[in-house]
Amino acid sequence: MVKLNETHDPELKSWVDSANEAGCDFPIQNLPFGIFKRAGSDDLPRGCVAIGDQILALTHVVANGLLEGKAETAAEAALGPTLNPLMALGADHWSALRAQLSALLRDGGAEAALKDTLVPMAEVDMCMPADIGDYTDFYASINHATNAGKLFRPDNPLLPNYKHIPIAYHGRASSISVSGTPAKRPMGQLKAPDADAPVVGACNRLDYETELGVFVGPGNEQGETIAIDDAEEHIFGFCVLNDWSARDIQAWEYQPLGPFLAKNFATTISPWIVTLEAMAPYRASVYQRPEGDPVPLPYLTSDAHEKSGGLEIVLEVAIATEQIRSEGLVPHVIGTPVFKDMYWSVFQMLTHHASGGCNLQPGDFYGSGTISGTEPNQLGSLLEVTVGGKESIEFPNGETRTFLEDGDEVIMRAWCEKEGAARIGFGECRSIILPATE
Ligand code: CA
Repeated sequence: MVKLNETHDPELKSWVDSANEAGCDFPIQNLPFGIFKRAGSDDLPRGCVAIGDQILALTHVVANGLLEGKAETAAEAALGPTLNPLMALGADHWSALRAQLSALLRDGGAEAALKDTLVPMAEVDMCMPADIGDYTDFYASINHATNAGKLFRPDNPLLPNYKHIPIAYHGRASSISVSGTPAKRPMGQLKAPDADAPVVGACNRLDYETELGVFVGPGNEQGETIAIDDAEEHIFGFCVLNDWSARDIQAWEYQPLGPFLAKNFATTISPWIVTLEAMAPYRASVYQRPEGDPVPLPYLTSDAHEKSGGLEIVLEVAIATEQIRSEGLVPHVIGTPVFKDMYWSVFQMLTHHASGGCNLQPGDFYGSGTISGTEPNQLGSLLEVTVGGKESIEFPNGETRTFLEDGDEVIMRAWCEKEGAARIGFGECRSIILPATE
């Protein structure tokens, strides 16, 4: 059930002035969680919440005795270096903490007690928000699957299983890094289509994939499953995810078991986790399948899910080359994909993941798959924008790209905005490409 409550009231204002500014990603209606330490310090990372351009460390809220009941228990679970213990507690605790933080941070709240404890975001390093045990990457955009499929298999872009099963592969958790961490161009086996044999070399078709990342809350026991109507009790929240992809390595290695080294060298995520509860105003009906498409199998659908399984999120991916950065120009926006076009919902992904008895655990993470809309300016990967490298992108300063070059910075953002609700944002997921070690 999607429940709106007073924390979503678009009229709410915070005593933190920057939170009330138009276009701010972190108004009082958002309150995403993260893990931070003071910039450049050897402090132990700890939990915090974003408000405007400031962060509020949960240690101060607990130490001042400002929370009670489940909210206090929840905040205590977020005092350590990862949010996994908070994720494990479940929606009652998350919701109690959100409600009490909202009361403390709104006009007339606990300004006197907390004002001096706020730290500007510019003075902190955001850390990995969770110890990610397992990472899975889905493939839930039918537009992306069709566009990418055409390039790898022109005669047969969408395989016969696509409309029946949320396709995914198990990814690599150890190489997921938080925004700001550079990504190193991988070496790998490359085989030109007309070559007899592969050679080892630096990837020269390096790409990004614009995705939504999902953090799992309470898990399920191995051998147990999660009903579609219970799926939301197992989702803590969302971030922006860049699934770096080495297209030339991928093309040679991916059959028959799927991507391996083409994907596992690096993945970058935004540091703030926007909770499922914060997303309540932006829940929507699921993707309306065209006439003639199969209906989902019973375990992947329900009336409640049909009505509210969708999420209204806009994403944006931009590139800032070294030259763009040195000249102080704005990053060049390549695409603004929309999440509402996703063929499979985040709830279907989770239910399907557990449907064979796989145990999900707090802090597990999955990606939606590249998000691409139907329009040319809504594509989530360079593979699609450049039609497999056949067409190049021209930047306003005259530079061109087909795939990413060393020194390029990829910047992804996401936000939710509509009439009658407060705009909330996800912050940024950014990373610079470093040269390969050849
Ligand atoms: Ca992907």
